[in-house]
Amino acid sequence: MSMLIKGGEIASEQGAPVRGDVLIEKGVITAVGENLEAPEGTEEVDANGKVVAPAMFDAHVHFREPGQEYKEDIAHGTEAAINGGVTGVVMMPNTSPAIDSASVVRTVLEKAREVSRIPVYTSGCITKGRAGEELAGIDGMRNLGVVMLTDDGDPVANPAVLRNAMEYATPFGMFFASHCEIAELSGPRALNEGKVSYQLGIKGTPACSEEICMDRDIRLAHATGARVHIQHVSSAIGMETIRWWKERGARVTAEVSPHHLIFNEEDIGEYDTHYKMNPPLRTSEDNAALLEGLKEGVFDLIATDHAPHSEFEKGQDFVSAPNGITGLESALVSLHDRFIATGLVGWDLIVKRYSAEPRRMMGLEPVPIEEGKTADLIIFDPSGETTFSRDFMKSRSVNTPFLDQTLRGRVEMVLRGDEVLLQREAS
Ligand SMILES: [Zn+2]
Repeated sequence: MSMLIKGGEIASEQGAPVRGDVLIEKGVITAVGENLEAPEGTEEVDANGKVVAPAMFDAHVHFREPGQEYKEDIAHGTEAAINGGVTGVVMMPNTSPAIDSASVVRTVLEKAREVSRIPVYTSGCITKGRAGEELAGIDGMRNLGVVMLTDDGDPVANPAVLRNAMEYATPFGMFFASHCEIAELSGPRALNEGKVSYQLGIKGTPACSEEICMDRDIRLAHATGARVHIQHVSSAIGMETIRWWKERGARVTAEVSPHHLIFNEEDIGEYDTHYKMNPPLRTSEDNAALLEGLKEGVFDLIATDHAPHSEFEKGQDFVSAPNGITGLESALVSLHDRFIATGLVGWDLIVKRYSAEPRRMMGLEPVPIEEGKTADLIIFDPSGETTFSRDFMKSRSVNTPFLDQTLRGRVEMVLRGDEVLLQREAS
């Protein structure tokens, strides 16, 4: 397949998009520049007014396989990713059984090779069954290429266990991803402790539950020489904690999710479970601080924490409903709608934080649109729209606050190597 993408705004992490053409032959970008000629038999794509960007990469997704395939599975999850302009994902291991040994890792990766059109990576548990006691089969998982260890969904409650794991796995070149909270402080894990929890009469989770654990985990990493990645940071003080440690040379990276940037506790309204996740939505002041932290580089990456749940489960009362929302299909469009279209951030920031840096964290090469690189890109129409209807979404679940909403921006094409993974009619 040969393709000439003409007249698009080519996005990169280095600066504002630059207008130009992109020639792709046999899956490789063979030229980038102005007024390129199409060799015979080349398909021409008019990208006037569109953005041609490196495809996104999501380092935090829950595909629920094995064990809860009614919520999501690898086949549907990866199609949801493509639908949102994402061509690589890292699965979380809080499945059932948990991904805590070589045999489960092997099963999951084999399944992914069978059903997925994009690369799927998996993290592995820190402790067996995520029970926080014995170390998981770290050695065997490493031999299958696992580099990220996490008990995501829960913290490792006992700091001595975490410290052991860090001392054990760090020499193998593995790193840790921390879901931070102190269970005794969190309570029922329903929403933020604050104005809205008092109004709704539900016991809230204070931000300090997350902040204390975050500080603990970075301290342990710093003491053992481990590398730690802090997942789904929700509060301004949490963000400042990471900044403080980074300035002191700790090997720490951190992620922020689109929902913690966009929404806050006020959005819960009348007990709307599409705004229920863990860590919970905090305040509008936290939203503003997190965005500043993203712009200033305190956050290395954006990750969705794509967490599908069935409508039955999300339809329960606010305290009983499970935590989490889907994100893969709406992340890029919602970031465009709220932050790029409004001029708050540029494409360079989104490419850096949602495409290049997550790949680097996983030890992968980023996918810039440059001569000689394998094509791994999207065409995005900033003047198009996306309606997040049930029809549109490929995930098995529809638990997103954007359900049936229309946002500015549209992923029009996803291309990886020799394969067009997604092509929508031009809007
Ligand atoms: Zn988590």
